[in-house]
Amino acid sequence: MRIEGPMKKIYFGDLVAKKGDIHIAKDRCKGCGFCVEYCPKEVLELSEEFNVKGYHPPHVKNEDDCLYCQLCETICPEFAIFVTLKNPPEEGEPIIKKEDAGEKGESRP
Ligand code: SF4
Ligand code: SF4
Repeated sequence: MRIEGPMKKIYFGDLVAKKGDIHIAKDRCKGCGFCVEYCPKEVLELSEEFNVKGYHPPHVKNEDDCLYCQLCETICPEFAIFVTLKNPPEEGEPIIKKEDAGEKGESRP
């Protein structure tokens, strides 16, 4: 079920989806494909290229879909992939801008 419109605000309040920046150490990879197989958003796929060990490392096919769940980095047996938070808020900065939070800057309806 997809929640849209005013109901979205009621359900999710100020929550905003996180986005990840994916980093791959290609030459550490052993081409097992775990990260590709278990990514819930199908962000990765094994590339055609070979690394120094002769394996096919993953590459990012649709980074915008990455949820920053970090499952890929948790599951990788070679510590060859990790994800950082894209555009993390500065310390003290609200997660949502006041103008996006309603006329009075309220966080909840
Ligand atoms: S952080 Fe999650 S969504 Fe992003 S590439 Fe890794 S497994 Fe996929
Ligand atoms: S889980 Fe790690 S070792 Fe396996 S394909 Fe992905 S990056 Fe390579």
